[in-house]
Amino acid sequence: MEDANDSLFDSMLVDSSSKLIQNGFARSQSSAEECVMFVNVGGEATNEGADGVKFLSDTFFDGGDVFLTNEAIVEGGDYPSIYQSARVGSFSYRIDNLPPGQYLVDLHFVEIINVNGPKGMRVFNVYIQEEKVLSELDIYAAVGVNKPLQLIDCRATVKDDGVILIRFESLNGRPVVSGICIRRASKESVPPVPSDFIECNYCAAQIEIPSSQIKVMQTKSTAKYENKIKELTMQCELKAKECYEAWTSLTEMSREVEKVQMELDQVTFKSFTTELTAEKQAENLRSISNRYELDKKKWAEAIISLQEKVQLMKSEQSRLSFEAHECVDSIPELNKMVYAVQELVKQCEDLKVKYYEEMTQRKKLFNEVQEAKGNIRVFCRCRPLNKVEMSSGCTTVVDFDAAKDGCLGILATGSSKKLFRFDRVYTPKDDQVDVFADASSMVISVLDGYNVCIFAYGQTGTGKTFTMEGTEQNRGVNYRTLEHLFRVSKERSETFSYDISVSVLEVYNEQIRDLLATGPASKRLEIKQNYEGHHHVPGVVEAKVDNISDVWTVLQAGSNARAVGSNNVNEHSSRSHCMLCIMVKTKNLMNGECTKSKLWLVDLSGSERLAKTDVQGERLKEAQNINRSLSALGDVISALAAKSSHIPYRNSKLTHLLQDSLGGDSKTLMFVQISPSDQDVGETLSSLNFATRVRGVELDPVKKQIDTGELQKTKAMLDKARSECRCKEESLRKLEESLQNIESKAKGKDNIHKNLQEKIKELEGQIKLKTSMQNQSEKQVSQLCERLKGKEETCCTLQHKVKELERKIKEQLQTETANFQQKVWDLEKKLKDQLQGSESESSFLKDKIKELERKLKEQEQNSESLLKQQMKELEEKHKEREQQWQQTHCYVEAVKAAATPDIGKSRTSEECPNDIESRMKFRPKSVPKSYEIFITYSNKEFSHEFRTNFLKKTNPSQNRVKF
Ligand code: ADP
Ligand code: MG
Repeated sequence: MEDANDSLFDSMLVDSSSKLIQNGFARSQSSAEECVMFVNVGGEATNEGADGVKFLSDTFFDGGDVFLTNEAIVEGGDYPSIYQSARVGSFSYRIDNLPPGQYLVDLHFVEIINVNGPKGMRVFNVYIQEEKVLSELDIYAAVGVNKPLQLIDCRATVKDDGVILIRFESLNGRPVVSGICIRRASKESVPPVPSDFIECNYCAAQIEIPSSQIKVMQTKSTAKYENKIKELTMQCELKAKECYEAWTSLTEMSREVEKVQMELDQVTFKSFTTELTAEKQAENLRSISNRYELDKKKWAEAIISLQEKVQLMKSEQSRLSFEAHECVDSIPELNKMVYAVQELVKQCEDLKVKYYEEMTQRKKLFNEVQEAKGNIRVFCRCRPLNKVEMSSGCTTVVDFDAAKDGCLGILATGSSKKLFRFDRVYTPKDDQVDVFADASSMVISVLDGYNVCIFAYGQTGTGKTFTMEGTEQNRGVNYRTLEHLFRVSKERSETFSYDISVSVLEVYNEQIRDLLATGPASKRLEIKQNYEGHHHVPGVVEAKVDNISDVWTVLQAGSNARAVGSNNVNEHSSRSHCMLCIMVKTKNLMNGECTKSKLWLVDLSGSERLAKTDVQGERLKEAQNINRSLSALGDVISALAAKSSHIPYRNSKLTHLLQDSLGGDSKTLMFVQISPSDQDVGETLSSLNFATRVRGVELDPVKKQIDTGELQKTKAMLDKARSECRCKEESLRKLEESLQNIESKAKGKDNIHKNLQEKIKELEGQIKLKTSMQNQSEKQVSQLCERLKGKEETCCTLQHKVKELERKIKEQLQTETANFQQKVWDLEKKLKDQLQGSESESSFLKDKIKELERKLKEQEQNSESLLKQQMKELEEKHKEREQQWQQTHCYVEAVKAAATPDIGKSRTSEECPNDIESRMKFRPKSVPKSYEIFITYSNKEFSHEFRTNFLKKTNPSQNRVKF
């Protein structure tokens, strides 16, 4: 650095006697010299003590500005304050009133204004007495900031005017100066007058060195520096290259850093998503725990309610057990009751047996009574005169005087009266109820298992249909029979069960027609006998009737069906037999005995005889069939009465159908219907005759009279039998009633017993149920408790899991973050290393440059020393050749003479002796300042500005140059 500064200073110094010092002003500096004045430029005057220097205030300036600073001056010498003020700008100093003579001028500089540089910001020249003493001064480049720089020993010659003029010339920026010291030069310290001239030792003539030579020298040094600059430029380029490489690697590193940044971002995002999932999981957990809490509450409530229920059940159970105990306590009583009931039942059983026996007896007796009455009974009924008959003046021919006794008189022609006797005789005044009251006992027989046949016989219009069917308001035997059957069957329902069904048939022209059949008659109905010997018609509808309303529907259906196929209902009905068959199936509930019986209710066709001449064709056939069937009926009944071996049932469909109900132990009832009108008297007599034949007793008036006594006897017997029968019936009724009472009582007891047993069973069942329910609820409670425990456990495990997961996630995050931070740090470190590497490289390069510069300097120094050595050698040689120089003196004189008017004239080597070519510039009558000598020696050119040395070697006394 010092070397560099030296070279820098060398380049700046113009006067070789002056020098630049990098320190502040010291006292010792002024002791040797006589200090004329010291101007504290920009500052105030100060007196620094007895031995000190007196500083003058700034008065000699022309132009410029003052600049002050409080900054400390580094190495500021003994008076550092003088460097804290300065003048800056375009200015000069004129110091006058100085005695003529030689002076030395010291200038003090410091950079106190631009403390941050840079180099070259302030460059200026300094002139003293208009001669440049300092060239291109750059204080900052030389010493830096706040550090003094002295230019000392600048020679100044003061002439008669007594003035020293110091001028500062700006090359860049504004010149600056802090102090000016004028000293008187001592004789020995005054350096020889610098001159651009070479003075001849002999004639003292001054030879001026031409500017061209100076230029050449400058050019050479410029070339040298240019080379240096080139080198430096190359180095600079190299540096730039390195810098570029460093920049590329830096870019690469930045890219890597970006990549790492991206990775870091990704990781951050990942951690963010992980956090999100963790949050979600936490949310889920919260919801689960909420649900769990809710469930817990619910379960707790359920448990409480169950506990309440259990409590209730327990109390119920205790109540029930109490009741059960009570029941158990009452068991002996119950047993007693049961015993009593059993006794009663026994009694009841006995009574039942007795009742059964009585029933059988009653049935037997009843049958006997019926039989006593006669299995074939004939009731005669006479209708009233109708309106037509009355209006036409018909008279009644029937005498009902002895009707109560079953006698009837017909007033025949004249005064004769024909008497008839029947089982009952109904006058026109007797209504349907009276008629059925007598028939009902026959009807009961069908429920006892006997076959019964009731039919109405008589002339058309005498009331057959009226008696059997009746009208809706005045129902006949058919309806009332069924009604009675249902009533009695209901009464006997405890001991008998009856199954009643009904068929309705019509026999017309010896053909059977089913009146209940809904579809068209496909097949001819025939009478068959089954294996039991019962007669029946296969394929006939048997409508089951359970109650009386069903009966009416069936009877209506039959009646309606009979009307179909005929224009005149009455006409048709009068020529056909309408037969209602009631089939009864009886089951004795006490002994399980089953019987089947039939009740025929037949509305026969009109019995009137038609004159043979009156009818033809179809009507004839009808009449014949009617006659045949009615005759057959009469024949059958007659044969039965006569107990004939052969009963001609098959002579007609009618008798064939009625076979089971006619004869044997079956009961037959005939209603013989007659008209009271005198106009029908013939038919009436015919009908009555037929009926009498049926009854089997034919009484004529004469016989009647003869047998009155007998009759009376029979009558009395009958009355007696009747009264006996009534008594028996009465006793039977009473027995039945008592039996019923006992039965009902037994039943009541039975019921109580049953109820009690049922209640006990029920209570036992309830206890069992309650106990099982309690067990179940207790089980449920325990199960619920277990489930609750399980749930709690699962919840605990879940919570543990979640915690573990959270911990894991945290760990992962931490490790990942640490890894990435480590990576980032590594990368940063790498980057730094690389940067440092590049810096070290650059510092290394700098060092290299410095070294190179140092080497250069060394080389320069070497070359300089070599040159000096050579110079010394040369000098020695010159000394040796001094003699030769004397010889050439003449020649030099001649040259001088010749050159006096022609400045710059060159001499060739031919004109110079001993191979020395010299070109000299002469400046006569002036002090030579400097000159340049080119010496060609054995074709080797040395070029060096050795002005100072040369001048030093000059012999001043002789004032000539020695070679
Ligand atoms: P039949 O069937 O014998 O041909 P009906 O039964 O059709 O005779 O009777 C003929 C008419 O006489 C009917 O209008 C009926 O109402 C009436 N009649 C029959 N018997 C009586 C009676 N006992 N009381 C009142 N009217 C009767
Ligand atoms: Mg009729």
